[in-house]
Amino acid sequence: MSEMVDCVVVGAGVVGLAVARALALQGREVWLLEAANAIGTETSSRNSEVIHAGIYYPQGSLKARLCVQGKAMLYDYCSERGVPHSRCGKLIVATSTEQQNALTGIRARAQANGVDDLQWLSREEARALEPELECVAALLSPSTGIVDSHALMLALLGDLENAGGVLALNSPLAKAHCAPQAIHLEAMDGTCISARTVVNAAGLHAPVLARQFEGLSAVHVPQAAYAKGNYFTLSGRAPFSHLIYPVPEAAGLGVHLTLDLGGQAKFGPDVQWVEGPEDLVVDASRSEAFYAEVRKYWPGLRDGALAAGYAGIRPKIHGPHEPAADFLIQGPRDHGVSGLVNLFGIESPGLTSALAIGAHVVGLLHQDAVS
Ligand SMILES: Cc1cc2nc3c(=O)[nH]c(=O)nc-3n(C[C@H](O)[C@H](O)[C@H](O)COP(=O)(O)OP(=O)(O)OC[C@H]3O[C@@H](n4cnc5c(N)ncnc54)[C@H](O)[C@@H]3O)c2cc1C
Repeated sequence: MSEMVDCVVVGAGVVGLAVARALALQGREVWLLEAANAIGTETSSRNSEVIHAGIYYPQGSLKARLCVQGKAMLYDYCSERGVPHSRCGKLIVATSTEQQNALTGIRARAQANGVDDLQWLSREEARALEPELECVAALLSPSTGIVDSHALMLALLGDLENAGGVLALNSPLAKAHCAPQAIHLEAMDGTCISARTVVNAAGLHAPVLARQFEGLSAVHVPQAAYAKGNYFTLSGRAPFSHLIYPVPEAAGLGVHLTLDLGGQAKFGPDVQWVEGPEDLVVDASRSEAFYAEVRKYWPGLRDGALAAGYAGIRPKIHGPHEPAADFLIQGPRDHGVSGLVNLFGIESPGLTSALAIGAHVVGLLHQDAVS
């Protein structure tokens, strides 16, 4: 007989941590299994650290709902727990008349999502805020901000442990067998445990892992795809105090300027579809395209000012030529396996949404318990 625990969450990125914390705060026994030797070493530490407002996502989608809800929860949480953050605001800038028309659509979509604080700025108004900016018009999003994602993850871990939860590092899950009363788990080293509840929050690896769950039909597991986002850092101080975003592209939000809490600026991420989740090297030759994109809204960017930074990989569940997918969060009512929740495609705005995803997962498991 393997040891029986109440809940196992697989993956200690920001989402797995938020889910584990939410379950532990319900009074449940929680083990959080992490393959690496530290928390948050994958996508959760390779992103823009932006607290998104919830502007771009289709109305009613999980991305829209969980982003707007998660943003409010995150600001409250950061204030309560002393997690460094800043509500610095962002400008979405149009650099052509065509893009100016797109801004109108962006504002309408934001309003449909409950983000009703966007302000339309003329070129002059935008330049009064950011004198080095070039644009024909802009939208100001005052509720967009930045957060120290590492401090956030440490705070979530602290809450989990205070509530009695256990983090097990160096514990990669290999496979599972889903039975009616429990899910039996086997780690790579052969250790076995059983759990009433299992949440697969393995990020880039979630679909591949779910295929190793005997008893879960493969029709419920999406195909994984990977879109790398490269960042270039700016040497010297940026002459901007807001985040600056172009009008979005098909697979990402465009090469935008973000600031960290120390005022260091970076540009990215771009979109480079790759074969697997390991390809994290920044291709320095892509800097040419960055200069061209950034100079559309910041003509003053100097030659030689950009240096290769880091890359993160988006856990996509759609291919390059398919429409963008929503978060895919499947509970027992979706796939028929009692006690199991799979989190697929948790790309941006997953960091912003993490606390709301935690609450959502608790809700799905509650439905399972009462049905
Ligand atoms: C380039 C880029 C920019 C982004 N920018 C933003 C942004 O500005 N704002 C925002 O809100 N969101 C952003 N995101 C999205 C955000 O980073 C992610 O949604 C979030 O970090 C996902 O967290 P996670 O916990 O699901 O995944 P991860 O952080 O990838 O964590 C998954 C964990 O599971 C572990 N694991 C995997 N397999 C196993 C296994 N078999 N057993 C045990 N453990 C396992 C991994 O080691 C890892 O630690 C961005 C994403 C990218 C790629």
